[in-house]
Amino acid sequence: MNSRLTSQNGAPIADDQNSLTAGARGGVMLQDWHLIEKLAHFNRERVPERVVHAKGSGAYGTFTLTKDLSEYTIADHFCGVGKQTETFVRFSTVGGEAGSADAERDPRGFGLRFYTANGNHDVVGNNTPVFFLRDGIKFPDFIHTQKRNPKTNLKDPQAMWDFWSLNPEAMHQVTILMSDRGIPATYRHMNGYGSHTFSLWNAKGERFWIKYHFKTLQGIKNLSNEQANKLKGIDPDHAQRDLYAAIEDGDCPKWSVNLQIMPEADAKEYHLNPFDLTKVWPHKDYPLIEIGVLELNRNPDNYFNEVEQAALSPANMVPGVGASPCKMLQARLFAYADAQRYRIGANYNNLPVNCPHATEANHYQRGGHMAGSGCPFHGKTPDNRGGVNYGPNTQDGPVQQPQFAEPALDIDGVMARHDKTVEENYAQAGDLFRMMSPEQQQALFATIASTLHLVTDEVRERMLAHFDLCDAAYGDGIRSAIAACKL
Ligand code: NDP
Repeated sequence: MNSRLTSQNGAPIADDQNSLTAGARGGVMLQDWHLIEKLAHFNRERVPERVVHAKGSGAYGTFTLTKDLSEYTIADHFCGVGKQTETFVRFSTVGGEAGSADAERDPRGFGLRFYTANGNHDVVGNNTPVFFLRDGIKFPDFIHTQKRNPKTNLKDPQAMWDFWSLNPEAMHQVTILMSDRGIPATYRHMNGYGSHTFSLWNAKGERFWIKYHFKTLQGIKNLSNEQANKLKGIDPDHAQRDLYAAIEDGDCPKWSVNLQIMPEADAKEYHLNPFDLTKVWPHKDYPLIEIGVLELNRNPDNYFNEVEQAALSPANMVPGVGASPCKMLQARLFAYADAQRYRIGANYNNLPVNCPHATEANHYQRGGHMAGSGCPFHGKTPDNRGGVNYGPNTQDGPVQQPQFAEPALDIDGVMARHDKTVEENYAQAGDLFRMMSPEQQQALFATIASTLHLVTDEVRERMLAHFDLCDAAYGDGIRSAIAACKL
């Protein structure tokens, strides 16, 4: 039997098809509170979309640990071979709006949440091991170049190349973005990376710098520019459709989970700055260590509630894991949670997708929009547990847990806005270029030329000089491809 239709206050609705009117032809009565509630709620159905990573897809799954990491960490989900931890992943494109096509040439977000016994641990990375920038202070400017021109409201290749030409730290990521991996065929057929350097710490108080690598077990598959352009018209939501259908069909996507691990002291001696987000750690220096398998096996029941409102943040850490001095990571530790406070409200962590699933949250934060809502896992939200809203107290409130203190980190140096342009920008972009087959290099030249031929001579020449510094053949190949565009 159907349940009864009610208003939000639970009152049965007698007629949901006809407004209350004065006479058969109207007007409509202000006292039709059911109509007003419907329209007013409808107006508020959207929350502000994310400025970046607005278009996304998500699913729940399981992380199974195959290698015990207790020599490196006390993190619950990394200790005990066979341990299974519930996960949630949100994939996304970066630059487009919430309704944009999935087949854009754009990095893909790869945000992974572990619902651990000691709280939620989020690794919010991309499908690329590096990024365009090494300092978060440049991020708003960079994203503006990927968005619409404020005057024309059009995407703006001139702005994009102008910015990159003045920020050669982007060369490595630009090379990945313009390569054949720049348009993954689906979210299932791409790798994920934590990208930043993070840390683990163990019961002895030893710290290790780490990088996360999630290697697709479906195999890497990419789209050519032509395939992508066609798909954008036929099915702009193809990656959402693919992920949802695969999981519904029981064809659950999997990734092997791997770490690169560097003892804390090595960072000072290493020939690269290991906290520079524009660089990888070459595998020959720090080989991948396989630690487990990530499987996605459950679709959300409600896209808005669980994917649009999923509020992942690299600041969600648990005992045994930690951050690193990476300047981009430090900026994101603030910015991600702050974006969700703005979009969803101060109590976004009370929502079912965001609250801890395997433990309780207990704290003294109270009030704010929608206080007391959500959290079906433990019956109550932290903000409506009892009357005590301060600590310490003598009323049996939650108490701090000193056994989980992160080991101290020795930081030295003078406070200044240190010039980060002194870092090397070209070697690893060149390494990647030289790894590509001749066909991949030709495709790279053509993709770059397709927009670089549209910009001013000044910007183009500055960019070509950067490509030359990665590899002379890289710059020359692009020059030839640009000449072909102009024919
Ligand atoms: P390796 O030969 O050990 O590894 C090369 C890596 O490149 C593999 O992980 C491979 O991924 C990946 N790769 C291949 N083609 C592309 C592409 N078009 N875009 C992005 N990644 C690609 O070399 P090194 O560790 O010495 O690194 C050499 C270069 O490889 C780096 O400069 C970097 O550009 C790239 N790379 C390095 C990674 C690292 O963590 N060391 C990670 C990813 C890329 P797969 O095995 O899945 O095919």
